[in-house]
Amino acid sequence: MVVIIKPDAKKEQVNTFLGWVRDMGVETNVVVGKELTIVGLIGDTTKIDFDLLRSISIVDDVRRIQEPYKNANRKMHPEDTIIQLGERQIGEGFFHVIAGPCSVESREQIGGIAAHVKESGATFLRGGAFKPRTSPYAFQGMRAEGIELLVEAKNQTGLPIVTEIMSVEHLPLFEEVDIIQVGARNMQNFELLKELGHLRKPILLKRGLANTLEELLMSAEYIMAGGNRDVILCERGIRTFETAIRNTLDISAIPFLKSRSHLPVIIDPSHAAGMAWMVPALSRAAVAVGADGLIIEVHNDPQNALCDGAQSLRPEEFEALMGDLRALLGVMGKSLSADEAVTAE
Ligand code: PEP
Ligand code: MN
Repeated sequence: MVVIIKPDAKKEQVNTFLGWVRDMGVETNVVVGKELTIVGLIGDTTKIDFDLLRSISIVDDVRRIQEPYKNANRKMHPEDTIIQLGERQIGEGFFHVIAGPCSVESREQIGGIAAHVKESGATFLRGGAFKPRTSPYAFQGMRAEGIELLVEAKNQTGLPIVTEIMSVEHLPLFEEVDIIQVGARNMQNFELLKELGHLRKPILLKRGLANTLEELLMSAEYIMAGGNRDVILCERGIRTFETAIRNTLDISAIPFLKSRSHLPVIIDPSHAAGMAWMVPALSRAAVAVGADGLIIEVHNDPQNALCDGAQSLRPEEFEALMGDLRALLGVMGKSLSADEAVTAE
């Protein structure tokens, strides 16, 4: 961090300021110029409150030299993180498709969809058991029973499962869940993130509806600071002034996140679009832009789905999309990880 001192600051004021900074365990390098005094802060500046520093009367401006996230930062970890989950690897070079319904609705529904998506080449099964709904009167998910049904579907198909956690209290129910999803609405639920930091299980962290990419990386940092380094970032569309589409898919988030961080980055085209017909186009864009995978909603009966039917692909549409994705990945010299994992089983 570099602090620019106002030209009219008195020497004693500057010394008091320097003492205050040094008391926080940070060294200073003072450069006194003709007009400006510049103070370089050297060491661990993570504990220094940027806004507080800026508000000090003799401080003219503060510039960050380094990003505030350390564990998630590619500068600290130049190699791509490859998450090992059983036989599967997640990260650069391993393209995964997580597919399944928005919500688990019944044994037949989740079992049927799981078999279909597996057949089409998905590597993970998704399904919400605890649902964050805007209305308290809308279907809230099958909760604990939903997780049990997901585990049944996992045992039947061999597909590892991904499901969302909404409260720390529910953590004991997630024992057999392979990847825990933190939904957009909980991206900044810091107590939850801290708790997930103590697990040794991958976390799929979705970007909040109105959060910046730096905030997303800071949330990943919360998990990683606790020791859990297996975080998958997910761009799922953000709120913009556009109302024609449920959310705006921020496609530039992918190259940005992949350049700043070593963590795997995937795209959720379903929540971004809100309309099933748009999902294939956005999925193809995800491959082209270098995402490490997709999470896609698939339902056997979208018209009667209890949640997000409008954006859910039918199994046959999903199958067709998987064919396109395979072709596109092939053009880019990549392949669908599902193919390898299925043959390995
Ligand atoms: C979901 O994946 O079903 C979900 C609720 O996603 P998001 O948190 O991105 O809205
Ligand atoms: Mn959904």
